[in-house]
Amino acid sequence: MGKIVAIVNQKGGVGKTTTAVNLAAAVGAAGYRVLLADIDPQGNATTGLGVNKKQLHTSSYEVIIGGLRATDAIVPTQFSNLSLLPSSINLAGAELDLVELPQRESKLKQAFSLVRDDYDFIFMDCPPTLGLVTINALVACDTFLVPIQCEYFALEGLSQLMQTVRQVKRLWNPLIDIEGVALTMYDGRLNLTQAVVDEVKRFFPRRVYSAVIPRNVRLSEAPSFGKPVMYYDSHSRGTTSYHELAREFLQSNGKIAAMR
Ligand code: ATP
Ligand code: MG
Repeated sequence: MGKIVAIVNQKGGVGKTTTAVNLAAAVGAAGYRVLLADIDPQGNATTGLGVNKKQLHTSSYEVIIGGLRATDAIVPTQFSNLSLLPSSINLAGAELDLVELPQRESKLKQAFSLVRDDYDFIFMDCPPTLGLVTINALVACDTFLVPIQCEYFALEGLSQLMQTVRQVKRLWNPLIDIEGVALTMYDGRLNLTQAVVDEVKRFFPRRVYSAVIPRNVRLSEAPSFGKPVMYYDSHSRGTTSYHELAREFLQSNGKIAAMR
């Protein structure tokens, strides 16, 4: 049964999608069957994997709201062992639609229960909110992974995130646990960076990955070519850093991290 990991931080632009796409690709390339579920109406993970939203008729929206089977919306990608549950702009209305539904917080959990045997890992790229879609992700997941951008106000909102996690744990998902914290857009030359890193480590003792993701222009270019960075520039620092993160992720999950 595959492990379900929500990639979450309600702060915008911290590297959730970049981490979701590139970690999923690296874990897939390491030989594990991976599903990336894009549950953000922005659909950046969908575009980042080269899938054209306009050519799709079904998406995570119909799965969450319409009770469509996930298998009927999942599409293959061009990348090794990597499938995608794509997003659509309709998801922007999902928050309102969900309010009307019974068991509105458990729709994704129900949807994944039927497909989790098909994958070793399911990653969810969450929107930058703590609304009902993100709640669905936290209810559905085994663990959550928090990307944090190494800059001023990095910890802003993290107390609120952890408060939401505690509520989800109490009401719906007693076994939810933190997977890890990934430091993104790291610049070791800045004194500020070290201060932020220290602060994050105090907030999440022993949960911060040693592998850090540097600022790397290849990481920001790759999505416009519809590719994870490892398929766009295999020698870039972006590629090596996400491989390191994947290795650490797999090792902490008791998996062999033979990277190809
Ligand atoms: P949102 O909250 O809007 O969904 P996000 O948390 O998913 O944002 P990303 O989309 O991954 O964040 O990243 C925000 C921007 O920063 C993007 O343009 C992305 O290409 C860029 N970016 C992310 N990580 C890096 C990095 N390590 N180096 C350079 N650019 C990066
Ligand atoms: Mg995003």
